[in-house]
Amino acid sequence: MKEIQIAIDGPASSGKSTVAKIVAKDLGYIYLDTGAMYRAATYLALKHQLTAEDSREIIELLEEHPIGFGRSEAGEQLVFVGDVDVTHAIRENEVTNNVSWLAAIAEVREQLVALQQRIAGQGGIVMDGRDIGTVVLPEAQLKIFLIASVEERAQRRYKENLSKGIETDFETLKKEIAERDYKDSHRAVSPLKAAADSLTFDTTGVGIEEVVAFIENKAKALIEEG
Ligand code: C5P
Repeated sequence: MKEIQIAIDGPASSGKSTVAKIVAKDLGYIYLDTGAMYRAATYLALKHQLTAEDSREIIELLEEHPIGFGRSEAGEQLVFVGDVDVTHAIRENEVTNNVSWLAAIAEVREQLVALQQRIAGQGGIVMDGRDIGTVVLPEAQLKIFLIASVEERAQRRYKENLSKGIETDFETLKKEIAERDYKDSHRAVSPLKAAADSLTFDTTGVGIEEVVAFIENKAKALIEEG
């Protein structure tokens, strides 16, 4: 059976990861959350009190403590920096509010993109992020760009944070999401934008199952086409 590449991009909390994970599982494909990689690199930089001026040191740290993935007994995808499990730490507000400056460093992106492309070389993949359809997998057969109103995305993230025990103020969260979108869309390197050949899906008020069904129908048609 032919294996394809599925790129899912979009702004913060647009449902990318939730949907990508389900589609990957249903198709038996690898799932790669590239946001988790930028978060893991941010965690490492903050731990060593580095800033946007320290790109060389950040690259060296990433070489010393490579980002890796694993799976818990319960089936949860785990993220590692070296041999430290950072799965939960990378979701904390401090990382979330610092990730945009790190993700704007060209040299850091180069290193992470190379790793993402290596992982994609292993077979069928669903990858989510900001620049997957435009930069990481420009040849992906299926490119989806998910959007949703800031209000709805803030509500989703608020619920997610509550369930993870992360204390959050809703209005602050909304402001932070809008700020992160702005920074991600306006940076010089690989800004968040829909690839010319992507399909945009507005998920405001739309259930996860409907978004999954839309993507899987498109994917199955492409796979059957051979
Ligand atoms: O997807 P998530 O919200 O976890 O991503 C965290 C941050 O990582 C984004 O706000 C963005 O700055 C950065 N990112 C990126 N390119 C990607 C994925 C994430 O710049 N492909």
